[in-house]
Amino acid sequence: MQLAKSRIEPTPDNYRKVYNAIDGRASADASSTVGQLLGKVLAEVGAQHPHHESAVRAIIFQIEKQNWTELEEALRKLFVNLPLPTAIRHTNYHVESEDQIDMITLWRDMLVKTLDLVVVPQLKDVPEAQSRANQLLEEARQAQSRESILALESSLKNILFSLEMHLDSQSQLQLHLLQLLRLLVVSMEALVLEEKWLQGPTAAVREILTQPLNIESLAKAENTLKDLIFMQGQLKPGLIEAKRTLKKMAEIFVIQLAEITEATDDYQAKLQSYREEISHSDEIQDLNQVLSRLLEDTQVISSITQRSRTEIIEAQSKVREAEKQIYELTLQLDHINEIAHEDYLTGTLNRRGMDEALIREFNRADRFGMPLSIAMMDIDHFKQINDNMGHATGDQALAHLASVIKESLRATDVIARYGGEEFIILLPGTTEKDAISVITRAQRELTRNFFMHDNNRVLITFSAGVAERLSGEDADSIIGRTDQALYHAKKSGRNRVIGARSLNSEEPVPPPTVQ
Ligand code: GH3
Ligand code: MG
Ligand code: MG
Repeated sequence: MQLAKSRIEPTPDNYRKVYNAIDGRASADASSTVGQLLGKVLAEVGAQHPHHESAVRAIIFQIEKQNWTELEEALRKLFVNLPLPTAIRHTNYHVESEDQIDMITLWRDMLVKTLDLVVVPQLKDVPEAQSRANQLLEEARQAQSRESILALESSLKNILFSLEMHLDSQSQLQLHLLQLLRLLVVSMEALVLEEKWLQGPTAAVREILTQPLNIESLAKAENTLKDLIFMQGQLKPGLIEAKRTLKKMAEIFVIQLAEITEATDDYQAKLQSYREEISHSDEIQDLNQVLSRLLEDTQVISSITQRSRTEIIEAQSKVREAEKQIYELTLQLDHINEIAHEDYLTGTLNRRGMDEALIREFNRADRFGMPLSIAMMDIDHFKQINDNMGHATGDQALAHLASVIKESLRATDVIARYGGEEFIILLPGTTEKDAISVITRAQRELTRNFFMHDNNRVLITFSAGVAERLSGEDADSIIGRTDQALYHAKKSGRNRVIGARSLNSEEPVPPPTVQ
């Protein structure tokens, strides 16, 4: 009532003043007493630390003016800048003994040295992680208080995780490289038939060596070379056999021809020269030419040779047949090389590679206590793509999809072909929620990078299930959970990403990424 009567604003301060007045107490303002005390202590601090004197004066000024907001600001500034031991001694928070303070700064200094001399240089090939390490180094150098030093821990853990990933991939790279070189040597030795077939694998290896190495492409190249070696082993005897039969047949034929013709010396001499040519020719084309010329010459011989002519024509058709067979064999070889390039371009791991990657990433996640998520994806209505555009185009669509997805992932994520048109993606250091975002982003990428068929844009979509690994969970169990989530993604309309966790809760199923 008193406040209303005097038309005084009803603030806590005014209320207290009026209450004290009514109560008959001396209206001593506690805040001014506190202000005076604070000013006195601060003046001492200013005297001890001359270069904080101006800050101290600013505070005393705000106390006198009773500008409480500005006072708070000025106080904060002063305490942040005061040297660590003094600041700690003069506050009631975390009172540390001199020994403890020394220990903390000692550890901080060791952290700074480790970051500076070991961690940062090791990360030179991973610029993103290196810049995080540099930032942490800077923060560690400036960290004065116990709290700010302890706050460095989570960044440090993340950086050590990146470092471990990097070092691990380096040693994996070396292993694969060695294996690759060994296979290459074996392959070179087997490739003595046709120089052309050397070009495929050597070009693939040359290409690999000119680009920044990564485990998936090396593993793919390794598998390709293995396939190539196997197929060459199968085809080579066939090729040699076909050539040998052909040569033998031509030789026998010319001998027979010489026996049955009663022709001139000149013709006999020609036949002799043909025989020599045949025995020296190694290539199918050369043989064919000899037989053609022989056929021409034979046409001028009398009716006695009529029967032989027919035989020559038959022989020539057999040569063509053999030639065709050899052509088909070489096509098969060339096709293997083609596949080698396609697989190399998609760069996804196979099942064996995936199993190795699972073990590697599970171990790493366990050691660092970091999350690990897995996504399983399956192309929507892929049968239709095959049916409408043919299986070969289907294959190209698969390669396209794999490369677009690979582009949208981080270098440390791993993509593997799990089945025909199913892929598994390992996302180290990623929670289920983040993994869902990553896969959803890959889906969007696919709607921007169309697959082109006959100059038409073909929209390929996929459904995916994502799960974060539970503590100690094995591969079968988590893959089973991603499979279940994938099943739900398909069932609820396709072209969407579903997290395994949402299956156990009442969360609504997310809408499709692309309508
Ligand atoms: P949805 O997954 O949306 O249920 O339908 P879908 O038509 O994709 O069905 P599903 O996943 O069961 O079938 C996959 C089809 O993909 C079957 C097979 O013909 C085709 N496929 C599998 N592997 C390959 C491959 O390597 N190349 C090609 N071109 N097709 C493949
Ligand atoms: Mg499928
Ligand atoms: Mg499918």
